[in-house]
This record gives sequence, C-alpha cells and structure tokens, in this order.
Amino acid sequence: MRRLRKVAVIGVGLIGGSLALALRRAGFAGPVAGFDRDRGALERAVALHAIDEIAESVSEATRGAELVVVAVPVRAIGSVLHDVGLALDAKAVVTDVGSTKAEVVEIARHELRERFPRFVPGHPIAGRESSGIEAATLDLFKGARVVLTPVAETELKATDFVRAAWEAAGARVSTLSAVDHDRIFAAVSHLPHFLSFALVSEIASRPDSADLFSFAAGGFRDFTRIAAGDPAMWRDVLLANREQVLQQSQAFRAALSQLEASMSAGDSQALEDAIAAASAARARWQPGAGLSLD
Ligand code: NAP
Repeated sequence: MRRLRKVAVIGVGLIGGSLALALRRAGFAGPVAGFDRDRGALERAVALHAIDEIAESVSEATRGAELVVVAVPVRAIGSVLHDVGLALDAKAVVTDVGSTKAEVVEIARHELRERFPRFVPGHPIAGRESSGIEAATLDLFKGARVVLTPVAETELKATDFVRAAWEAAGARVSTLSAVDHDRIFAAVSHLPHFLSFALVSEIASRPDSADLFSFAAGGFRDFTRIAAGDPAMWRDVLLANREQVLQQSQAFRAALSQLEASMSAGDSQALEDAIAAASAARARWQPGAGLSLD
C-alpha cells in the first residue's frame, strides 16, 4: 500500500489519536492533519506525534486529504460530516468510528449527498474508560476487531480502502449491516453499560453509600468497571441507539422478573438452573469469537 498524500482526523481524542498514531507508525499515512474543537487536544496531539499539522477548521483539515476519519462523539458526527462534505476531494474516502451505526448512516447520507458512496461507516471494538488524547496509544487497535457497516451504495473500493487502513493499524475487520450492528451492540455493550450506570448510581445515591462502597470487592469491581465511562460519549451512544437499547432492557427485565419469581417462590431448582445456564454460557464465551461474519 502506498503512503497516503494526506490523512485528516477530526476529533483527536482516544480513538482518533490512537488511529493517527497507528497509521503513521505503519507508514500508511503521510502527513496527518488534525482538527478538534479543543485546541489543547490538538497541541498535545502534535507533541505526541499523533498529528503533523493543526487545521483551523474541519474544511481545512479535509481539503486535499485522501482519507478523512471522523472520530468525534456520535451526536457531533452530523455537523462534522456537513463541513467535510463541503471540502472533500472528489476521490477522497470518509469513515467514522462512532459506536452506533444506523443513525450515523442516515445522517451521512443526508450530509454527504453525492459523496455518500465514498463514506464507510466503522466502529472499532476497542477502547478504554479514560478518554482524550492523553489516553491514546499506538497499539489500541492491535488485534482488536473493527466492524464496518457499508450499505448497498457504498463503493467496494472505498470499503477496501478503509479495511486496509484498519488492518495497517493492526485490527481485524468484519462487516455487518448497520441494523445488525446496533442490535448486537445494544445487547452486548450498550445494555451492560446501561445496567452498570443504574446500579452504581443507585448505590451512590443511598445515605450509607460510603459504607457500602467500602465493603465492595471483586464482584462489584468486575460488574461496574464500565460505569466509569465518559458521560458525554455514553449519553450519545444510548440516545442514538435508544430503540434497540430499550428493547434489550425489556428483555433483561423479563429475565430479572423470572429470577425474582423463582426467589419469591423459594424455587431453588429453578434458581440453580438459571445460574447454571448463565455460568456455562459465560464459560464458553471467548472475546471476539463469532464476529467473522464476512
Ligand atoms: P474523546 O477521547 O472524548 O475524543 C473526542 C474528541 O472530539 C474530543 O477532543 C472532543 O472535544 C472532540 N470533539 C467533540 N465535538 C467535536 C466537534 N463538533 N468538532 C471537532 N471536535 C469535536 O472520545 P473518543 O473516546 O475518542 O470517542 C470518539 C468516537 O469514538 C465516539 O463517536 C465514540 O462513540 C467512538 N468510540 C469510542 C470508544 C471508546 O471506548 N472510547 C470505542 C469505540 C468507538 P471535547 O473534549 O471538547 O468534547
């Protein structure tokens, strides 16, 4: 793969910064221009050698770039794509890294218009609780999964191009439809975060929360690690995928009601069977297995 003339990264936080670092290290990207609404993040990104140039606007970063990576929170993707569309070179490819996909695809269709076939929706399945450029690392995507959700209009060449970029960053790429992506991630990512936020905030709101937290140990730590996620990012993800998350939440309530009924009835067999089914399924689970849907 030849080195690209220019890559633009809009949003130089954890994901944008890590991808820029990895693309530069792999020799995939020539100069990387960054734009972010946070000037300090841009200056730190230059100091960390994630980007070469600070752009003063989305349009300035986009102009002349062969690949534009939109790595801002989900709710900001529409306005950024609007500005990208105004300055995009005819042959340039655009991708995003948002954690939800169906709404992003519709927004991109609207904002990019005739350029939409060169937009490849993407979602890296890698992250950390800390956000921002300070948390960015060169190897965040090494061995990680990335899901691309191209639609019928998406040019095959554009998808292959974005796939090559992620592979250069060390990731393994799968494709899914946007709807399947959102349904799957509502179940295995968004709902667990939703439940973790609910549990921790409920306990934290009790008058004796300090005592409760002081006795919490490994089980609490494992169940609630993800409650420390970035509030703005998770607000956006839950709202952008709200129908799917609410459906998954209903399914969870039904399972919880079933367990409560077994407990109220003192039905030890039903309770043990439910725990055994969960325990066996969890023991069989291997992270990342089963995403090879290509
Ligand atoms: P982040 O570390 O907070 O970085 C996002 C950056 O974009 C911040 O510097 C932010 O500035 C900036 N920004 C916000 N709105 C902007 C706008 N309109 N124009 C230009 N810059 C803007 O967030 P992240 O964790 O990298 O997440 C970025 C995207 O990746 C999100 O769509 C998220 O869903 C997705 N994602 C995240 C993870 C994860 O684990 N974190 C994993 C997979 C995918 P401010 O700080 O001033 O807001």
